[in-house]
Amino acid sequence: MNSRVLVLNQNYEPLNICNVRRAFVLVFRGKAEVLELLAEPLVGVSQVYPRPSVIKLMYMVKRPRLMVRLSRREVFLRDNYTCQYCGYESRDMTVDHVVPRQRGGRHTWDNVVTACRRCNHRKGARTPADAHMNLIRQPRRPSPLHYFWWQQQGLNGAANGWRKFLPEPK
Ligand SMILES: [Zn+2]
Repeated sequence: MNSRVLVLNQNYEPLNICNVRRAFVLVFRGKAEVLELLAEPLVGVSQVYPRPSVIKLMYMVKRPRLMVRLSRREVFLRDNYTCQYCGYESRDMTVDHVVPRQRGGRHTWDNVVTACRRCNHRKGARTPADAHMNLIRQPRRPSPLHYFWWQQQGLNGAANGWRKFLPEPK
């Protein structure tokens, strides 16, 4: 019961991700319909159930836009584990504050980037301009769509069928 189900709003917009149990309840109560199933069914005590991977609500839900949480992992995912100063790619990365915190830089999406240990050490507590280091691109807050993409990537095969409902984020 631990696989994840993509929940779409009535207008097919990705809304959130829930577990299979929650998805079953929504479908059973007539609040959602199943759009995609996973190949292997759920085997219950007395019955075999199809395993949903995407459901769509039968009604429109108005809710504030999903905000992607700012954490190390999310920063690395946004930057593809690529150093935003030299382009080096690795799983062993650090988070750099573009404007250092000692100089009033905030811990916000537009002031944090992925940096390799070497660049982070070289930059120290300086701004990119002072350190003569250029950013590959300006950091931005990821869109909610990025969040769904990253979840999908982390789930691998368990997110089969999600792709067609998730346009590629820019
Ligand atoms: Zn680097």
